Amino acid sequence: MTAHAKPPTNDLEAFWMPFTPNRAFKADPRLVERAEGMYYYTPDHRAILDATSGLWCVNAGHCRPQIVEAIQRQAARMGYATSFNLGHPKAFELASRLAHLLPGDLDHVFFTNSGSESVDTALKIALAYHKARGKGSKTRFIGRERGYHGVGFGGISVGGIVGNRKQYGALLPGVDHLPHTHDPARNAFSKGLPEHGGEDFAGALEGIVGLHDASTIAAVIVEPVAGSTGVLVPPKGYLERLRAICDRHDILLIFDEVITGFGRLGAPFAAEYFGVQPDMITMAKGLTNAAVPMGAVGVRGGIYETLVNGGPGIELAHGYTYSGHPLACAAGLATLDLYRDEGLFERAAALASGFEAVVHSLRDAPHVIDIRNLGLMAGVELAPRPGAPGARAQEAFQRAFEEGLLIRVTGDTIAFSPSLITDPAQIEEMVAVTRAVLETID
Ligand code: PLP
Repeated sequence: MTAHAKPPTNDLEAFWMPFTPNRAFKADPRLVERAEGMYYYTPDHRAILDATSGLWCVNAGHCRPQIVEAIQRQAARMGYATSFNLGHPKAFELASRLAHLLPGDLDHVFFTNSGSESVDTALKIALAYHKARGKGSKTRFIGRERGYHGVGFGGISVGGIVGNRKQYGALLPGVDHLPHTHDPARNAFSKGLPEHGGEDFAGALEGIVGLHDASTIAAVIVEPVAGSTGVLVPPKGYLERLRAICDRHDILLIFDEVITGFGRLGAPFAAEYFGVQPDMITMAKGLTNAAVPMGAVGVRGGIYETLVNGGPGIELAHGYTYSGHPLACAAGLATLDLYRDEGLFERAAALASGFEAVVHSLRDAPHVIDIRNLGLMAGVELAPRPGAPGARAQEAFQRAFEEGLLIRVTGDTIAFSPSLITDPAQIEEMVAVTRAVLETID
């Protein structure tokens, strides 16, 4: 049958949905078709309070007119130009703005189109950097159990989620993993940074270095706060210790800030919040308020200089057709303006302690076995149903949607990460609806 002979379909079947049980979804779909501020709207006009900023990404709220108009203007003026051997002003302007926002000497920016691409880009830069300085044997990467670094082969290799790895063969060679930092026996219901484990969990890196030797290790990559596996907040001193060990062994430290970047913790980046300087920061999501896909890697000046001074010609054989896409750059610039003009990072910082108090009020709700929080992100972990991990949280997610609330669930953890424009009444509502839902499910 030729393509023309196929009757057009307009049902849900053709779209192979990502990270979704397709059969179950298509049998009982949830659709939204409009969004504004803190709300999605279903096709039948029901308002859904968005407690997850889309997918940890719409940090300035949905459909902000300034961003919409910037994209519209750019689309009419120049919808596309390559960044290979040609430039357009907004890419340079956005890179400069980001360099200014990034902490310390992270003053160069490589553009990608997603968090996954940012991670793989950072890993490639790490290898190229060591090679350019005559240390080509430094090729190993160290990730962390329960880390999420997107879905590219680099990202799933350094990532620590078995479900995302087991279908895909041998992955990248030469990767090892730190232990995760989740320690409910000692740290359950911590408010903010947990007390226990910082030294030991980070100290495990010394063991890994002892096993492989520093001369074989290129970089360590971690999320400052692990988001996708349920908001795992690092214990006190953890990131500082990782930094010190990396320094001692000439290993690059990459912070994957795809979630924590752009105000989630009440600072531009988690690196600043923690006062720990990484060598690279990967970002995406909040960079354009998710209005146009875009990612980026912030790179220390020394790394950039080493590569660009390494010899004539192209220093890094890497890039995407859409690196620095004009629409994404326009969206990014308008988004950064909005963060600045509305003081949204400061707003997140101001909301954080009230958010913490309200989220922790769920401590006595049915099924709750742990609550973790930092900035405007929180995880509420439920006891799994015997023999059916994840089922209880999944039911909570579906029930919450019926009640007009969008939450994110991962395993048996409910994650809250509202846009930075949220207000205390909405936070109360998110938690009240969640409590009501938990009271009705078994
Ligand atoms: N890194 C982290 C820390 C993330 O949370 C995510 C997505 O949630 C990614 C990378 C991947 O980003 P993307 O889905 O844009 O490829």
